[in-house]
Amino acid sequence: MSDNETMMQYFEWYLPNDGIWWRRCEAKAEALAKMGVTEAWLPPAYKGTSQEDVGYGVYDMYDLGEFDQKGTIRTKYGTKKEYLAAIKAMHKAGIKVFADIVLNHRLGADETEDVMAYTVAPNDRNHVTGEERQVRVWSKFNFPGRNGKYSKFTWDHTCFTGTDWDELTHEQGQLYCFSGKTWDQQTDIENGNFDYLMGCDVDMDNPAVVEEVYNWLSWYIDETEIDGVRLDAVKHIKFDFYKDMLKRIRKDKKKALPAVGEYWHGDIGRLCYYLDTVDNEMSLFDVTLHYNFFNASNHGDGFDMKMIFDNALVAFRPERAVTFVDNHDTQYGQSLESSIKDWFKPLAYAIVLLREGGQPCVFYSDFYGNPGRDRPAVPNLEKQIRIRKSYAYGAQKDYFDDFHIVGWTRAGDKEHKNSGLAVLMSNAGGGSKQMYVGEQFAGELFHDAMGECTTPVQIGEDGTAVFYTSGGSVSVWLREAAFEDVEINGD
Ligand code: CA
Repeated sequence: MSDNETMMQYFEWYLPNDGIWWRRCEAKAEALAKMGVTEAWLPPAYKGTSQEDVGYGVYDMYDLGEFDQKGTIRTKYGTKKEYLAAIKAMHKAGIKVFADIVLNHRLGADETEDVMAYTVAPNDRNHVTGEERQVRVWSKFNFPGRNGKYSKFTWDHTCFTGTDWDELTHEQGQLYCFSGKTWDQQTDIENGNFDYLMGCDVDMDNPAVVEEVYNWLSWYIDETEIDGVRLDAVKHIKFDFYKDMLKRIRKDKKKALPAVGEYWHGDIGRLCYYLDTVDNEMSLFDVTLHYNFFNASNHGDGFDMKMIFDNALVAFRPERAVTFVDNHDTQYGQSLESSIKDWFKPLAYAIVLLREGGQPCVFYSDFYGNPGRDRPAVPNLEKQIRIRKSYAYGAQKDYFDDFHIVGWTRAGDKEHKNSGLAVLMSNAGGGSKQMYVGEQFAGELFHDAMGECTTPVQIGEDGTAVFYTSGGSVSVWLREAAFEDVEINGD
């Protein structure tokens, strides 16, 4: 049995545009690895519409901070050289690097084109609302600053399905589908058809485009030696595209290339349908669990903690679920704002980090806090990551049997010294629960590593003990040697 993996999303939305991010990644690699981080999800590394771009306003995917384009050589995060050095440092520390791959759209075209298009209703994209007419759209990407290096491919309107801006009319709130084209049919069904998200929508029905995107990904993997991919906005991309692309690239590169997709939807049926449609070639972020956390954190003691896994992806497809608490889109002021309230975050992190199902992803701002935006770091998060790495092993026994006080135990295993634990949390007042950890611990003292309960608990001859939680919080009970180890190494 191998050690638990832990991913960290190593960026957030509001980082300053100072160009030092890749250097920070390089400098922090060793400390992250030591703590138990095994995978780092780094932000999109290619040139966006401007230097300030977070990375999702994609302009040129071959420009990793190398060419003078969009008024800058470096990206918000630094230069290509620094990016490659950061990846190297992560690898040296034993951390796998996940690149953020944004293929749905392009923005910041170099020139306009006059083309024929028809309008569709933004909230029902199958409904055509206007006659075909000429529009002037920003759809020509020549990448003059790169001048054909790495790829001679340039993009024009034939590479896209549509866009939302006509330079002739400047009309707000319109959506234009180019004449002779239709939205990709195999996408999410919100708004009738959710192919279009923003900018120029990349046409995955165009074989030349698919080939160019494949060539780019192949180049990117060779150039950067990334280990895995985080796939942006997959519900807006023809489902077969990633199914085929991932199979092909893994075969060609002889790489496992783990992938996790962002399919942002609160309906578990859609998530499972997508996984089946793409032959389970990727995992998905557990959006439904995130929304359970969101509801639980907003409703305080009005939320039934027995329901915390209701409709969660990790309950349906534990092997395909990347569980998380918050991310750069759910944080305050962002497009999918649904930030988990501070009091609940330690409980949510215990649920993603200390259980057997799912692959957890820790959010940068939760770990370090966000002083500029008055967001505190999640207390004891580093300790929880360390506990996951060293002690969260063995058979799991669940006690989700009460409206407020719920918990679980792990029996430990032979490969991980002093492993085994008990977790008890409450979304109301303090209390206790008798839980079974195993006869192998009979007579041992367990201590709360979160420091909420200061009196140790002794395990009885029958392998059970009454564990405590102080209310509105989580207690993580460890064996004495583990407790002392975490006390010394933590924080
Ligand atoms: Ca699309």
